[in-house]
Amino acid sequence: MIAFFNGQYLPREEIFVSPDDRGFLFADGLYEVVLCVQGKPFCLQEHIERLERGAVQLHFPVSEFMWLHKVVAELLQKNQLENSDAVVYMQITRGAAPRNHPFPSTETPLTTYVFVRPFDQTPAEEARERGIAAITVADQRWARCDLKTIGLMANILANQQAVEAGVGEAIFVRDGVLLEGSHSNFAGVRNGTLVTFPACHRILDGVTRQQTLAIASSLGIPVALEPVFANDLGSYDEFMVLATTMKVTPIIRLDGRDIGGGVPGEVVRRLQKGFLALEARL
Ligand code: PLP
Repeated sequence: MIAFFNGQYLPREEIFVSPDDRGFLFADGLYEVVLCVQGKPFCLQEHIERLERGAVQLHFPVSEFMWLHKVVAELLQKNQLENSDAVVYMQITRGAAPRNHPFPSTETPLTTYVFVRPFDQTPAEEARERGIAAITVADQRWARCDLKTIGLMANILANQQAVEAGVGEAIFVRDGVLLEGSHSNFAGVRNGTLVTFPACHRILDGVTRQQTLAIASSLGIPVALEPVFANDLGSYDEFMVLATTMKVTPIIRLDGRDIGGGVPGEVVRRLQKGFLALEARL
């Protein structure tokens, strides 16, 4: 596979990152994952905009990344994925510099790495059809979960807990509130209203979450940007996770208890249909 590294298109095995890269030493970097449906990137603009906002928040010396549109198109073409389902991974770090906490000189070039790979949507489609089980776990992350940084230790530990429990996702709980998943946003349906935590420092404002909220509005599904409390789960008819590759995936079992009789609910089905309609317009 051909990947993009610091301005060059190279076979992936020929790419070497400096051991002094601040991504490697400090997780001082940002990333994005974009789904391409039959070679067409879904919401690439929104993903790049989030990367740019993150770069401003992390005080990177450069925060203009719209040129990544062209890199993604080139990579799809160079890897013969222009008509295939694929995922794009983009990572930008503060670059390589002698290890020191303060930022290096603003002259230090950022490290940019972008790769694409084929993506088989079948397992995710099956999960969307059947629904997944999930567990809740304590949120042990830092206080800026709105930044999509490569420092994902707490997410990895939570996700591994889900794998070991034989379920599809771990939902972070903080102060008695179900916030989001280890790699997804989280929403519930109560009396026909879609309920999800408001965008703030405690969650990543997912591109899929934004799209889902827009679809809900267009379908006339009421939305409440409110906490889903752990002690109130019984009043919900449906739960779901929202993320780039998972799209809108129903949760049919949470901590071993069936949700909505253990089958995907009506609202999730309507949102899924809305999502397919959006993709069809790509
Ligand atoms: N929340 C977290 C913690 C994530 O890691 C992700 C995706 O990786 C999401 C939410 C969903 O974001 P998006 O819909 O932009 O993929």
